[in-house]
Parts: sequence; structure tokens; C-alpha cells
Amino acid sequence: MNIGSVQFFKRVILCCLALMIIIPTGLAIALGIENHKLSEELALLKGKIPQTETEETKDPEAVSSIISVVSETSRAETKLNRILALREKAAGSPAYSLDYQDLYPDLYIDHDWVFDKEVSNAVYLTFDDGPSEVTSNVLDMLRLYGIKATFFVVYDDSTEAADLLRRMVAEGHTIGVHSTTHQYRQIYGSVESFLTDFEKTAVWIEEETGVKPEIFRFPGGSVNTYNLPISEMLIAEMLRRGYLYFDWNVSSGDAAGSIRSNEIVSNVISGVAHREGEKAIVLMHDGPGKETVKNVLPHIIESLEASGREMLPLDNRVEPICFDY
Ligand SMILES: [Zn+2]
Repeated sequence: MNIGSVQFFKRVILCCLALMIIIPTGLAIALGIENHKLSEELALLKGKIPQTETEETKDPEAVSSIISVVSETSRAETKLNRILALREKAAGSPAYSLDYQDLYPDLYIDHDWVFDKEVSNAVYLTFDDGPSEVTSNVLDMLRLYGIKATFFVVYDDSTEAADLLRRMVAEGHTIGVHSTTHQYRQIYGSVESFLTDFEKTAVWIEEETGVKPEIFRFPGGSVNTYNLPISEMLIAEMLRRGYLYFDWNVSSGDAAGSIRSNEIVSNVISGVAHREGEKAIVLMHDGPGKETVKNVLPHIIESLEASGREMLPLDNRVEPICFDY
């Protein structure tokens, strides 16, 4: 075949056409494989960290996975000296004298920062996210066994919720502030927005029960993915105002939607057993949809009583358990 002949040019054109098909097809396959790999990685990361408010509220498991990661890495230990040092710093340092200190002048608690002697066999059952349709069952169980507990509540302007708050107080339980919106991204946007969220629930509790709440629990715990940039300022500001917060050192795992009752019971029992000789603060939920709590409570209470643990309500005389930050 001669270079320059018609046949030669035909072959050149055919080769070019073949390359025009093969190269883009090859590229498309390679990019498709890469895209698939990246999608898998993204799904894995999304599973670990809820990215939006919608995911946060719809997927309690994702939130609880963050909490458990935080709990494990934060070593929930008593950090009283650190807390008191931070409070001193907040009271005296111009770095902490910021505009938000002038907000909500009624959000102050007169606290002498002296704590009662530790009750080493104490177990503090705490219920977050209520009141809800299961709270009255929880209260019935607690009354049946003569146990006092602690409720970290979420704002709800219904008459049923107000009645439940009054019943908690009448039956000797402690009410602490949890949140108004429970929307992490919004609450932890700034110290100001945290205070705004906190104030509404604090005022609501006091108006409905006549008791001013003195303790609280940070939504997601005191150290979480959402509040890291402001956590030290936020904690300092809340302590400066006299509010004491409690994290936990035993998690029931009941925030996970798929968990079975017997798993919740064994999480609590083994978690408390692990805290032998020291107090245990147990995280549970009586929020909407947390039906399991009423079924597991009798087993938990009977087992803890059998092992000689004393169940008590929290108040601001109990030295707190706070995550390390
Ligand atoms: Zn919560």
C-alpha cells in the first residue's frame, strides 16, 4: 500500500474514527469507577457525621454515633478543678467580657460552688428530650419503685407537657434545661443563640412549676461536632451565670432507633458495673418515639437495686461529670 494512496487515507480515517470512539469510552469507564469510589467514601463519611439539621433530627443513630465517639475519646471524668478554673477565668478575664454577658440578666443562679460529699454507689438516671407521650409511663415506673430521677426537658407549650413538668416536681424529680429547638446547628451557631434557646426553656420551666432550673445538659453533650468552635466560651459563660451542666458516663444507647430492649438494659447494667466505687450518670431518653424506655425501666431499676446501687436525682450540689474538651 502506497503512502498517499486512496487506500492509505481510508485506513488513516478508519483509525482516527476508532480512536475517537475508544478514547472517550475508556475515559468514561475510568471516571465512572472513580465516581463510584468517591460516592462510597462520601456515604461512609455521611454515616459518621450528620451534615444537615434534617439528618440530625431524622437519624438519631447518627447523632448517637457522634455522641459515643465523643464519649469514648473524651473520657467522661469529673473535671471539677478545671471547671472552677474556667469559671474564675470567665469572671475575671476581659477576654470573656463580651456583649453576650449582658443578655438575659435573669439567667443567673446563686451557686456557692461547694459540692456535697460523693455518694460512691449513687446512680443518677437522667431522661433527655421529654416530656413526651411516654413520660407519664416513666413517671409511673419511678413512683412504683420509689425512685427519683432527673429530666432534661425540651420546650413544649402544650398543656399536657406543662402538667408533666408539674408532676415531675410534685413527685420529687429534678428538672434541668435541655433545649428549646434541639437543632444543633442553630443552637451552637454562637453563644448568643445558645443563650436564646436556653432562656426560653428555662423561663418555661419556672413559669409552669415555680422552680427555677439550676442545672442543664448540652444537646449532644458538652463536647460535640457542632459546638467545638465556641465550646470553651460557651461553657465559661454558663458557669459564670451559675448554671451547672452534666454529661454522662453511662449511655443506654436508646437513641438508636433499632436497639432492642434487652440491649438497652445490658448497656445500662454493664455500664454502671464498670463504674464500681464511683457515681454513674446514665443517659436515657423519654422523647417522642422512645417507647422502649418504659419497658426497660423495671429491669434496670431492679437490677441496680439488687447490686446495691442507690438511685438519686441530680442537683447542683452533686459534683458534675463533664466531658474533657
Ligand atoms: Zn437531646
